[in-house]
Amino acid sequence: MKDTYDKSLPFAASIRWIKKETRDTLSFALRIEDEHIRKAYAFAPGQFNMLSVPGVGEAPISISSGPSDDILLHTIRVAGDVTTALSRFEAGNVLGVRGPFGNGWPMERAEMKRLLIIAGGLGIAPLRPVLRYMLKNEKPNASPAEIPPLIYGARSPRNILFRDEFRSYAAVFDVHITVDKADPQEHWSGNIGLMPPLLDKISLSSKAPDTTAFICGPEVMMRCLIEELLARGLRGENIFLSMERNMNCGMGTCGHCMFAQKFVCKDGPVFRYQDIAALLAVKEL
Ligand SMILES: Cc1cc2nc3c(=O)[nH]c(=O)nc-3n(C[C@H](O)[C@H](O)[C@H](O)COP(=O)(O)OP(=O)(O)OC[C@H]3O[C@@H](n4cnc5c(N)ncnc54)[C@H](O)[C@@H]3O)c2cc1C
Repeated sequence: MKDTYDKSLPFAASIRWIKKETRDTLSFALRIEDEHIRKAYAFAPGQFNMLSVPGVGEAPISISSGPSDDILLHTIRVAGDVTTALSRFEAGNVLGVRGPFGNGWPMERAEMKRLLIIAGGLGIAPLRPVLRYMLKNEKPNASPAEIPPLIYGARSPRNILFRDEFRSYAAVFDVHITVDKADPQEHWSGNIGLMPPLLDKISLSSKAPDTTAFICGPEVMMRCLIEELLARGLRGENIFLSMERNMNCGMGTCGHCMFAQKFVCKDGPVFRYQDIAALLAVKEL
């Protein structure tokens, strides 16, 4: 649907519900107040909104709902001024939203190529719309070779985001979860350790050159995984990652999020690895 509203100005969105995901992370389900904007608003998986709290400021936050969900979801870790202010909001409160902004995941590749999705921690937020989309558009009778692997890593079992959703993702994805560590009282019987060893469980081998990877997580994690993926035969042109940089305008004018010659807000946040390889300085094995 066409944009028919001014993206440089915030519009009002009311909070329908708030879910505490982990100790420091909350999901906010929003409803756009203005009917005209609600109808015109459309986003692509991987895009973000600028959320604002009057008198406090604005922060870029990924859209974590599915493209056809009836609410607009944002999953927020309390980090600084804006996110702390948001964490004090309640259902019914109204906040400001500008967007959607940025380039999302190349979803056409999710259809055409074998797909591998890798998320670390909060990095699952901009990938959740892809998961929701694929769940909704599940390929009936997909052969085992066509089932896309989904790898997720969290600090501990209690930090796994959207934990109760992974059971439904297992209907469409080959799900592998790992945690850095688990306390005995968390009764975790799954994988413990870093994410790269999980790549050995998904048998990339001959399919590697034809596999597209979508990756989001801490930059150090992405660097390390890209090294491993390249070593296993994935092509740089088929690896996409979502980058984070501080930003003010979200529209490519203020220059805060410049990443060498690129703006994270408008050229990204999703980049093809090959286009930013020199900046990421991944060590090719
Ligand atoms: C495209 C994009 C998508 C994003 N998606 C999400 C998302 O889905 N969910 C999410 O939670 N975040 C997301 N982020 C990150 C989020 O925008 C930042 O964490 C943002 O800075 C939060 O705003 P804030 O005002 O709460 O924090 P800020 O006040 O900007 O603080 C950010 C960081 O600075 C530190 N800091 C703040 N004040 C000080 C100080 N005085 N001294 C030292 N350190 C300080 C904080 O501890 C924190 O680590 C995204 C960022 C981008 C660019």
